[in-house]
Amino acid sequence: MKLTFHGAAGEVTGSCYLLETNNKKYLIDCGMFQGGEFSEDRNWNAFGFDPQTIEAVILTHAHLDHTGRLPKLVKEGFTGTIYANPATRDLARLVMLDAVEIMLYNQKKNGIPLLYEEADVEDTMKLFKSVDYVQKTRLDEDVHFTFKDAGHILGSCFIRLELEGKIIVFSGDIGNVHVPIVRETANLGEADYLVLESTYGHTNHEDPERRIFLLQDAIITTIKRKGVLMIPAFSLERTQEILYEINSLLNSNLIPHSPIFLDSPMAAAATEIYKKYPQYFDEAAKYLIGKGDDLFNFPDLKITHTPDDSKQINNIKAPKIIIAGSGMMNGGRILHHLLRYLSDAKSMLLIIAYQARGTLGNRLLKGEKRVHIAEVRVIGAYSAHGDQNKLVAWVKEAKRSPSRIFLVHGDEEPLSALQQRLGEETEAQVTIAVMSETLEI
Ligand SMILES: [Zn+2]
Repeated sequence: MKLTFHGAAGEVTGSCYLLETNNKKYLIDCGMFQGGEFSEDRNWNAFGFDPQTIEAVILTHAHLDHTGRLPKLVKEGFTGTIYANPATRDLARLVMLDAVEIMLYNQKKNGIPLLYEEADVEDTMKLFKSVDYVQKTRLDEDVHFTFKDAGHILGSCFIRLELEGKIIVFSGDIGNVHVPIVRETANLGEADYLVLESTYGHTNHEDPERRIFLLQDAIITTIKRKGVLMIPAFSLERTQEILYEINSLLNSNLIPHSPIFLDSPMAAAATEIYKKYPQYFDEAAKYLIGKGDDLFNFPDLKITHTPDDSKQINNIKAPKIIIAGSGMMNGGRILHHLLRYLSDAKSMLLIIAYQARGTLGNRLLKGEKRVHIAEVRVIGAYSAHGDQNKLVAWVKEAKRSPSRIFLVHGDEEPLSALQQRLGEETEAQVTIAVMSETLEI
């Protein structure tokens, strides 16, 4: 088989891998390049293969950096099947339509041409075929794939592909340990080859058990000093986790009551999709649902849909809590709130999401004092990605560990740190993937 990396090679976005066997071509993910103008310009480049020649796309999960170039693929002639978990299918539609909204805004403001339009997203949706976890699916004679739970976001999978008598696993994004709502990552199982994400390959998160206490402390501290707690959050997973934990803190009377705003129509829509798939929740969440708990809704919570509703938040006296996108603070409604409250010493910015290089979030994280007066706190354990220990343990605990590992989806430092540690602790030959490079394996 031949494996070519058409994205997320030496960087964290643009996941897209081409697998060729029996003269047939399959794509694993078709994500958008994100973060920084240079990076995003590359979304307009040719794919490096002819979309018409691709038999099928298999999706790991709904995040834009794994799905965002699908409508471009369809626009350029792909007519095959897109296999995805049903929750991934629903979330992917939301994610791609949101991308169109952002592109329309950028077109109006900066004259940037559209990569695709809403109609292209709807054409893309027609090619989806839902496949549940564990269900073995035939792609061709002696070519099968199975989705396993990656524990990253709702519907997230790692993919086990069986072909040419070998097993190749594509990790997609591997979830953090003890994350609320979603289940733990399934065992890697047997693998000959592994294409492994490396987002946090160089570092370990703080103890995940502590994160709810850190959240509790941030809420109590801000409410006591009558400030505004701003939580920039990604619409998928992070927002639902925060709502879930605030709900449980309120139910246990561990935080005082205050108005809480979910100021993100996209996050609100994603939350509705979460509610459609309780079968994918972990046992604790299922137990609470069984007791009649809504999980993501409580009396203090107000969901603001229109821009006018969003503006009204300013009129509500502090203390208050605002959850809004975008998670990296490079756009979205959170910017209006930052503008208003970052200069207020009573207020707090709580960073719970990955902050890519060059974003405002990254500058704040590095403590650039010039841009704020409000307190900035970080809770790394809310990361939706497994850390170095988790990734290494996942590989080592496999029923049969891979002999070759290809590292993708990481910046330079995480890639080389993970390469070193896996090299020391496993028997595998560990290679860092190179963009556009084809490997015969
Ligand atoms: Zn992801």
